[in-house]
Amino acid sequence: MVNAEAFELGTNRSCIRELFEYGLMRAKVVGKDQVYDFSLGNPCIPAPDDVHKTIEALLQDTDSLALHGYTSAIGDYETRAAIAADLNRRFDANAQAENLFITCGAAPGLCAVLGGLSVAGGKVLALAPYFPEYKPFTQGAGLEFDYVQADVPDFQIPFDALRKALTPNVVALIVNSPNNPAGTVYTEKTLQILSELLTEKAAEFGHPIYIISDEPYRELVYGDAKVSFIPKLYKDTIVCYSYSKSLSLPGERIGYVYVPSQAADSQAVYGAVAGAARKMGHVCAPSLWQKVIARCTALRPDLQAYDRNRRALYEGLTQMGYTVAKPEGAFYLFVKAPNGDSLAFSQMAKEKDLLIVPGEGFGCAGWVRLCYCVSYDTIMGSLPIFKNLIDAL
Ligand code: PLP
Repeated sequence: MVNAEAFELGTNRSCIRELFEYGLMRAKVVGKDQVYDFSLGNPCIPAPDDVHKTIEALLQDTDSLALHGYTSAIGDYETRAAIAADLNRRFDANAQAENLFITCGAAPGLCAVLGGLSVAGGKVLALAPYFPEYKPFTQGAGLEFDYVQADVPDFQIPFDALRKALTPNVVALIVNSPNNPAGTVYTEKTLQILSELLTEKAAEFGHPIYIISDEPYRELVYGDAKVSFIPKLYKDTIVCYSYSKSLSLPGERIGYVYVPSQAADSQAVYGAVAGAARKMGHVCAPSLWQKVIARCTALRPDLQAYDRNRRALYEGLTQMGYTVAKPEGAFYLFVKAPNGDSLAFSQMAKEKDLLIVPGEGFGCAGWVRLCYCVSYDTIMGSLPIFKNLIDAL
């Protein structure tokens, strides 16, 4: 006897992983350079040199227990204080170590926040296209999940539809800017309108509606786009941050939750996040990585390679006649399936060893996602295949 829902989740493979593994299998048959794999968001730029230098220095100077022993569940004070100082320097955030909870990345941070906000009958909203894991994370926390379709093709916030979806049982809205999969970055003006709407609805319902700001791509932004710090625009914001993409460390599992003091019931929320993390078996984030982060908060990624890929792919595809959402952040391109059927189009592409993810899982059928954190050669090699595909329709 096993839990049926857990079995379903554990055995119903994610389409992204399936494509990625198919790509590995095909690479053995046709050669790695003949497979154009845009499926998985594994950063292709290396972690900054200073990360490696910091590890080397720590290994020389720090004793084994301090490096590899347990830390407190909320994280090393030194790490939390360093992150708070970084947030204050960059965003004038008024953060303190006590507002930070160090996690094993954004995913468990999101689960802890959702678990902490879980009340009977509560609902969480997302804006489609959204990161597919939001649904199992929310439902796993005992909350209902629903989403609102973003405006197409710029994927901005659909305020009329959102207003209708904000029912009294909504406890939180997940905001992901820069967005996976559309690369959208919300402007400060958009976020101000959002803040006014949520403030109005929270007053009407008599309880806070939190923004859960999922920020793994905060530092991945191009051109003139600016990523606003949402707690400055809406006080009831809880931030889930990750170093997976900003420092190219996705396998190391390190990030944090930030519960600002000015957020409604801040201390209760922080305590509930800690309790929800405990229920999930969180003991502490990796000690070595906490020490690295404490010394590396000022490091930023070198985005040149991503930006070159972004421009080559966006320009190449739009010139061929594809409709593409212009990405201002993250490392994804969201493209309208030219035949209107994302499942059929990604299957046609797969037959040419071009691996792109249908938008269904992101709540956006009719679109496909390309992850452009790949080599420039992969981008250039894929363009003739995209051309053949659209010409053949
Ligand atoms: N949120 C979004 C939007 C993501 O794209 C990802 C990973 O791809 C995550 C959260 C999870 O990131 P982490 O590796 O920090 O758990």
